[in-house]
Amino acid sequence: MARKPIIAGNWKMNNTLAETRTLVEGLIPLVKDAKCDVVICTPYTDLALAVELTRGTNIHVGAENVHWAEKGAFTGEISAKMLVELGVEYVIIGHSERRQYFGETDETVNKRVKAALAAGLKPIICVGETLDEREAGKVEEVLVRQTKAAFDGIDKEELDNIVIAYEPVWAIGTGKTATAQVADETIAIIRNTMAELYCPKCAENRVRIQYGGSMNPKNAAELMAMPQIDGGLIGGASLKAEDFSKVVNY
Ligand code: PEP
Repeated sequence: MARKPIIAGNWKMNNTLAETRTLVEGLIPLVKDAKCDVVICTPYTDLALAVELTRGTNIHVGAENVHWAEKGAFTGEISAKMLVELGVEYVIIGHSERRQYFGETDETVNKRVKAALAAGLKPIICVGETLDEREAGKVEEVLVRQTKAAFDGIDKEELDNIVIAYEPVWAIGTGKTATAQVADETIAIIRNTMAELYCPKCAENRVRIQYGGSMNPKNAAELMAMPQIDGGLIGGASLKAEDFSKVVNY
């Protein structure tokens, strides 16, 4: 069974409602014949409009985070049920910016993944090493630890509903891209870890792993040609309809 590619945009803290309308309306015709799954992950405030605008199209909508509790005294947080109610299908979990600036840990990533799956959301789980970790020869150690922690207690049956994004922290928003070869080799480490956690066939057929980190219209085709790379998580280049569509139509 071939793994269907999936290209997702991560808007981060960008786009007002008016900007969302312009971007999504521009994007719809440009990606309508995409051969991959297309997702846009937007700030919470843009989700309802993004869902409304993309209804009946091939664009799916995701959030950029989710809390693990069903409800309660968690000021400023959003539950999985609230996202599902809006028509949201995907959610980014464990993005390096959350790990770096907002205290996200391997443990909280796992809690969010469980809550998302229980509510019927599809997590896009981010893993990736920092530059210091790469230079210290710790890539494998970090990725194995992050992957095992994120999937702790997750059933094999859920694998079709989960996407992993390998995002080397040093390549995010920096204009530095991992070479296609480095991205491919590193993603193989994650896939091997999934084979060990589940089964080799599951890892080969059912685990989609994206590359993320300054992916853009110029380098998308080369990255997507690599055997281990099943898609992209796109930050900067997802903010312009034309650029994002070029990545989608790599
Ligand atoms: C990201 O934020 O997930 C990302 C990959 O950003 P950029 O494409 O801007 O490097």
